[in-house]
Amino acid sequence: MIAAVIPEFGRMKVREVDDPQLSGSTDVIVKVAAAGVCRTDLETMSGGLVPAYGQPVFPYVAGHETTGWVEAVGSEVSVVAPGDPVLLHPLITCGLCDGCRAGRDMYCSNSRFPGVDATTWGGFAEYMLTGERAVVPLPADADLEELAGYSDAGLTAYHAVKRLIPYLNPNGTVAVIGVGGVGHFAVQLLREMTSCTVIALDVDSTRAQLGEQLGAHASFHGPIETMLASVLELTNGGVDAVMDCASGGSQSVTPLDFVRKGGTVSLVGGGASLNVDTLSAVVKEITIVTNLVGTYTELQELIGTQRSGIRSLHTTFPLSDTTEALHSLTTGSVVGRAVLVP
Ligand SMILES: [Zn+2]
Ligand SMILES: [Zn+2]
Repeated sequence: MIAAVIPEFGRMKVREVDDPQLSGSTDVIVKVAAAGVCRTDLETMSGGLVPAYGQPVFPYVAGHETTGWVEAVGSEVSVVAPGDPVLLHPLITCGLCDGCRAGRDMYCSNSRFPGVDATTWGGFAEYMLTGERAVVPLPADADLEELAGYSDAGLTAYHAVKRLIPYLNPNGTVAVIGVGGVGHFAVQLLREMTSCTVIALDVDSTRAQLGEQLGAHASFHGPIETMLASVLELTNGGVDAVMDCASGGSQSVTPLDFVRKGGTVSLVGGGASLNVDTLSAVVKEITIVTNLVGTYTELQELIGTQRSGIRSLHTTFPLSDTTEALHSLTTGSVVGRAVLVP
């Protein structure tokens, strides 16, 4: 098959590799329809995930936002059959550990994370191996290119909004930093699932405007210091909650600066260091909530939000143009998700 492989850190190259093979009785091989490109893939390519997952076995195939059609199934698979359209939860889980039994898929202690964990290949390929517990069956008429972004970007935003809701009041104000792959879902989901006022923030004016088109009541763009000043003025001292979808902040400004006393900071995705002045955080009694992707059940719930018009904005690239897709993500020129189509 053709795949976009990482032959060494710093490069991705489209080339022929061996097809995946069924080995376990609950294995599922998916013919990939679409694969979303996430900032995590850039980290995988640059070596940024080594502290978390170790040195990759090169060549390595990234990609953890995948839709497709079931190609082949192991002997014990019962929930899908060849030909079925599916969306994949990013993790292959065991179903038996404490995390799995609690329904917390991301806590699985025996999980494999295709496209991320440095050994299991991901979705930037014509075919991908996953497990029965990861497949979410879809209706026959599902738009597989649109739904690819639901797998991680959408799921992460949905999980984060659900975790934030207990901290919100009906008339509260929430700022979303970064209207990219995850943030454009967060803006829509906050409007759909809460009655809060939503402010979209992005360094880029086009993406900030996009936030308003997707339902934000206001938007600001520019350097984070400028956006902070605008938000503090608009809200008379700070928002009730901020969702940081950009690992944002600078040396002088952090997401904590955006919230009022008693406010909540939701960290969506990680990477950059967060310089917390503990004295001011305690004096303001700020709550910090972190978020790691989401559960299988939440992914099923999220698909239901399509009925209320939640959209996964995306730009498609042929798999052969992976370099171009990565470039558009790096430069911030892509709207919503960049999606690779084999
Ligand atoms: Zn991701
Ligand atoms: Zn498990």
